[in-house]
Amino acid sequence: LTGAEVGAIRADFPVLSRHVNGRPLVYLDSAATSQRPVQVLDAERSFAEAHYAAVHRGAHTLAGEATDAFESARERVAGFVGMPAEALVWTKNATEALNLLALSLSFPGPRQLGPGDEIVTTEQEHHANLVPWQETCARTGATLRYVPLGDDGRLDLSDLGSIVTERTKVLAFSHVSNVLATVTPVAQLVAAARAVGALTVLDACQSVPHLPVSVPELGVDAIAFSGHKMLGPTGIGALVARPELLSELPPVLTGGSMVEVVTLDGTTYREPPQRFEAGTQPVAQAVALAAAVDYLEKVGLQRVHAHELHLGRLLLDGVRSVPGVRVLGPEDAESRIGTVAFSVDGVHPHDVGQVLDDAGVAVRVGHHCAQPVHRRYGVTASTRASAYLYTTEAEVETFVDALRTVRPFFGLG
Ligand code: PMP
Repeated sequence: LTGAEVGAIRADFPVLSRHVNGRPLVYLDSAATSQRPVQVLDAERSFAEAHYAAVHRGAHTLAGEATDAFESARERVAGFVGMPAEALVWTKNATEALNLLALSLSFPGPRQLGPGDEIVTTEQEHHANLVPWQETCARTGATLRYVPLGDDGRLDLSDLGSIVTERTKVLAFSHVSNVLATVTPVAQLVAAARAVGALTVLDACQSVPHLPVSVPELGVDAIAFSGHKMLGPTGIGALVARPELLSELPPVLTGGSMVEVVTLDGTTYREPPQRFEAGTQPVAQAVALAAAVDYLEKVGLQRVHAHELHLGRLLLDGVRSVPGVRVLGPEDAESRIGTVAFSVDGVHPHDVGQVLDDAGVAVRVGHHCAQPVHRRYGVTASTRASAYLYTTEAEVETFVDALRTVRPFFGLG
């Protein structure tokens, strides 16, 4: 993206023109949640103003319009990752999508897990792709195993053959780590899982917003992502899975909207995806997420990705140029997206964040819901700067300049 193109994009994001602590806001927290363009805000508002109603019920005109908008949003968002509408289950966020799958696999059905079965995940996971599998193992008697991280900040796949075995029923891993910012070698993991007939589950929270993602091309069985990290609203996310897999899974939440026939003696369920969508759905949020997808596609995911690789390199070089700062994850920019997590010697991340905020710079501090990754690299928390399509080179400079003042501010050399 050229400077002029980024400038035009920024003009669509009202919040980016505000000031914080007397300084222009430098928003480097998009890996936590992204900002929204007027096109997305308008889509939600105009839907509420003209077409809002409960979907799939009622014969009135508004109900029909709302249902059409909801279902075309499903088709649009599923299509964004290369899948048909019936593959997409709306959820509240990626966390709910991963829990839905992990829970469903622990309920009676052809895919139910049990003692002797193994689930494999990795040491780099966000808690959302780790704790649900721990819970599923506790409930079913299955065993959880991990692909470890190496000293170089990448997954260590050297022992994959002994970790993924005939006992493995699920291999769940993130496409891009939200701390190390590395892109996982999906093909290698999928091949290992396929060789033993295990399901593959991809946490695509940090990839779908930032690079082209095609579920059929990746060859995974299911992916999860959140709308709020890809220019959409909070309260909407998706589980996208092969429809044949969905049809083998029992429902998790039950109640209205997901049933066919209910008698006092029992109930039959609708086909997926509706089987997994109990109760009134986040209709306006789905419509807004479709508008976010329109926005991203108009810019082009290849171009978004290229812009972030460029900014990622600037961020990495900038952070590494500051004395007393240690980067988590690989030092070569080639294997990263536009996110850099780091620790500052002698300064707690919360204090780093405070000094940066004084300069108008918004970053994430803490363990970023990935405690094992931090433990692996000998820290309990870190500071994370993350770019998106609206981030400029000048903003990266402002951030690095502010970072340079942190240690001196605390009297450190
Ligand atoms: N996985 C990854 C890799 C993430 O970065 C996040 C968000 N930090 C999640 C899962 C969870 O997303 P959400 O909180 O929207 O469910």
